[in-house]
Amino acid sequence: MPYTPDNDPATYKDRLNDIKRIYPLKSHESAFGHETVRYDNEHAAVVDYMTGIEAGSDEYARLEKTRKALAISAAIGIQSAREAINRMTDSQRATLDEYFAASAPPFLETSYRYAVETGKVASVSEWLTVPAAVFDDTEDTTNRPTGEPLLNVMQWHNDLLEQQAEDPDINARFESFKADFSKVASDMYWKGNIAVEPTLLDDAQLAVGDVFATRMQDMVGYYYPGSNEVTIQQGTGQRHTERKSELLEQFRPTLTHELVHLSLNRALHLEDGLMGQPSSRWLNEALTEETSLYIRQAMGEKECDDGTYREERDLLKLLTWHSDKPDQTAKMATRAFSGDVSDQLKFLQHVDDSWNAKDVIKKINAALAAKERQLRKEGMTRNRSIQTKALRHVYDTLRMDPTELLRASVEEIESAFEKAAR
Ligand SMILES: [Zn+2]
Repeated sequence: MPYTPDNDPATYKDRLNDIKRIYPLKSHESAFGHETVRYDNEHAAVVDYMTGIEAGSDEYARLEKTRKALAISAAIGIQSAREAINRMTDSQRATLDEYFAASAPPFLETSYRYAVETGKVASVSEWLTVPAAVFDDTEDTTNRPTGEPLLNVMQWHNDLLEQQAEDPDINARFESFKADFSKVASDMYWKGNIAVEPTLLDDAQLAVGDVFATRMQDMVGYYYPGSNEVTIQQGTGQRHTERKSELLEQFRPTLTHELVHLSLNRALHLEDGLMGQPSSRWLNEALTEETSLYIRQAMGEKECDDGTYREERDLLKLLTWHSDKPDQTAKMATRAFSGDVSDQLKFLQHVDDSWNAKDVIKKINAALAAKERQLRKEGMTRNRSIQTKALRHVYDTLRMDPTELLRASVEEIESAFEKAAR
């Protein structure tokens, strides 16, 4: 951090506050290159301010120190962004190309086309990662952190995210979506299918996610427990102006899913209770997606797809259909996921009774975790592939011959997998 209140002359503070007002959003701060763009803006503000200060004065010397620190911070940011692009997989590079082609403003397109036509680069990722010296004959880098055109791309990208985050049209659609969602959820509450009314919903905010943090990470959207914000993918497929109006429609399934996490999935927010623990991730995702599908149909979505998290939901269905009153079990499951620890204990006990065993879900979690560890040891790296493979394994075990798994203790399950992995 180059800037601290100690090295900050009071007159310079106002300018910094102006800059901070440009980037008010929490989620926006996690955007690709956000810090770097901020350092560069602050650097420009200091340079601008210094023109009115007498060279050689104490204040000038102090500002020069700040200026240098900001330039170095921006240069470090540019270097780490360059390294991140160098580490990209082929599919991430393709996403970057697509994003650039669909959304980049004309001045960047022209600059890129010039670099291609003069034979300096052959792709967007190359354009962004070649040393700045390649462009020395075309860019004046005096008094600025080096790194064009990467810096320009980061500036544009951050601007675009900010525009989308503040877009009144998108935000109005989100508010009306929340109102519809809330009606359906209240109805579920009065029918006894969920344990709480969706109170957290009033404050819920929508963030348009950074393509580097969503699509490039195989995520359409996400929600962090404890926040009041759901994030959905920015998308890359069409020009920004056309895409804007379709943003919520296109990502409606994800949005519903994340809103269920935020407003109904109380288990996720409880520190105690088995269902809120990371090991029960599969159960939370299964119940979230099942609830989300129900809500989407109730909200009038005509051609509802069959949803995500299939493997998680298959395992959940196997678990509940085993009971002689599957409807009641399903209801207890959604109440457990939206309720408190006592709702959870009731559900866990009910599952144990219907399988005539102890700690069924704990054992399933142990088996899943152990299988995932084993697959990682065997060299699998993609998270989602590891998860689905482990889920299918446990599903098959439970369906074909559950006795061994259910009779064992959690410790025995773990050590059996340890042996298998050797
Ligand atoms: Zn989820």
